[in-house]
Amino acid sequence: MTPQRTDQLQTPALIVDNDLLQQNLDTMATALPGARLRPHVKAHKCTALARRQYDVGHHGFTCATIREVEGMAKAGLGEDLLLANEVLDMSRLGVLVTEGHRITVAVDSAQTVKAAHDAGLREVVVDVNVGLPRCGCAPEDAGTLADLARSNGLHVRGVMGYEGHLMMAEPIAEKRHRTEESMELLLRAHEDVGGELVTAGGTGTYAVNTWANEIQAGSYALMDTAYGSLDIPFAQALSVLGTVISVSPKWAVADVGLKALGMDHGNPSIPGARVLFCSDEHITFAPEEPVSVGDLVHVLPAHVDPTVALHEALYLVHGDEILERWTVDLRGW
Ligand code: PLP
Ligand code: MN
Repeated sequence: MTPQRTDQLQTPALIVDNDLLQQNLDTMATALPGARLRPHVKAHKCTALARRQYDVGHHGFTCATIREVEGMAKAGLGEDLLLANEVLDMSRLGVLVTEGHRITVAVDSAQTVKAAHDAGLREVVVDVNVGLPRCGCAPEDAGTLADLARSNGLHVRGVMGYEGHLMMAEPIAEKRHRTEESMELLLRAHEDVGGELVTAGGTGTYAVNTWANEIQAGSYALMDTAYGSLDIPFAQALSVLGTVISVSPKWAVADVGLKALGMDHGNPSIPGARVLFCSDEHITFAPEEPVSVGDLVHVLPAHVDPTVALHEALYLVHGDEILERWTVDLRGW
């Protein structure tokens, strides 16, 4: 039987509030209309949700894995996909390019340029390190890498530089200042590289990064409590629905454990309760008002991306009513 109401769901289950989701999508589409935003699908891994982002005007997407690119292309959302990540075996992407999908990959080394060329990719961006100790070439090497890509017959669309170390920087003046420093590195690299794209940014910097010409935010659509602690106009649309399975005088326990939650940003929250700790299949919390065995609770994850990746489906709801079941179809690799 297809569940019609949230109290018919097997828990734990991922719940998305349709009104809050749409409000987040509309707010971002107003701030960064059309191609100013290249939504990152790694946050939701769901082509049905990506379709909603397409419908509010964003037709290019950012992906983190080959699987995400492949799933987006197969879902008819392959107009302009950027794999914002280094990959060495790109054979599955080459096939998609032959089928007519527009796929651009990030490169930061001679090896990744060769991999793109060998797999039949046509377009790349040069990934530049702008301060996050992760991928990206040194800004001064970007021009040489672009030349190498062009000599391999690849079209260089521009530069990418993800300032991930600044997403949570505070206060806002400090964030703006440090983002400007990061983007100066990217713009200097862009002078040597050329191309139309200067792609960067995320949910934490979308409002201050005025140097990139497209922003790769993803978390804004569903949100999490880590980003919820910032002064940004997005609501917590995602929760993990759980059932209270045991009650003691000083605490209660629900069936949303760390195997249903991304925990790397800390404990989740439960409105009206203090979360004590999570174990594999349990969350122990101290409710302000008494709860009973069988009650439903909404657990708000601290980190959206790894939470969603643990679940097979998102249930889109209006109050207690289930509107749609969306498969988390971009999971896996
Ligand atoms: N771009 C890249 C390359 C990323 O890895 C991320 C997140 O980690 C983002 C953009 C932005 O995502 P978010 O919306 O979570 O800030
Ligand atoms: Mn994240």
